[in-house]
Amino acid sequence: MSERLPDNLDLEHLGFQRNRGRSYPPHAIIIPTLKFKIAALNEIRHVRAEHITKVGDYSPEEIERVFALHKRMILGLAEVYHVMEKNGHTLTVQYEDMTPATWKQPMASGNSSYDPLTHTITLRGKFSIITSLHEFGHARGFDEEDTVIWSVNIFKRLFPNSFIKLVGADHMMIQQIPPGTAEQLQEREQEKRSLRNGRHWNGDHYNN
Ligand SMILES: [Zn+2]
Repeated sequence: MSERLPDNLDLEHLGFQRNRGRSYPPHAIIIPTLKFKIAALNEIRHVRAEHITKVGDYSPEEIERVFALHKRMILGLAEVYHVMEKNGHTLTVQYEDMTPATWKQPMASGNSSYDPLTHTITLRGKFSIITSLHEFGHARGFDEEDTVIWSVNIFKRLFPNSFIKLVGADHMMIQQIPPGTAEQLQEREQEKRSLRNGRHWNGDHYNN
């Protein structure tokens, strides 16, 4: 990293943020002095109270209920950070490939993405708060490094117990910040890219 790490309210500016074009950081970067907007924390707190109460229930009704929570959180955050409209597109949140089978896969939410052309977040595989925050960071304009730092640190602030469980676990957070060398990280990104191409993915999650 050539630039200093963000601190204090560095990642809390309103409107669309500069994309510095950086990839995933090689490990989780915890910045205890990073601060967040109270209004943003409150939007996430609403979801925390209601998220996944029925363990193992992946019925269509439950999927819709949890999707509504994620959508409300993301759109609420978009209001807080003033990023609801981009190039004539209102921020859209949708989901696809969300079934009991996808839910149980390792790194289930890893194919979620943000399409800057249509200002659309697509959640895939499993609803994960940290994934929704990660993709929302891209919707604000952040590159991988800034969105990983922002989403991981705000998640840790609000879900300290879940955060501890995630560390070292086969989970989205590890997927977002996979262990490995820079070459391995690049390979994994290429794999994900070709996966999407195979599904006729038009937007590009990585090069915003
Ligand atoms: Zn990303």
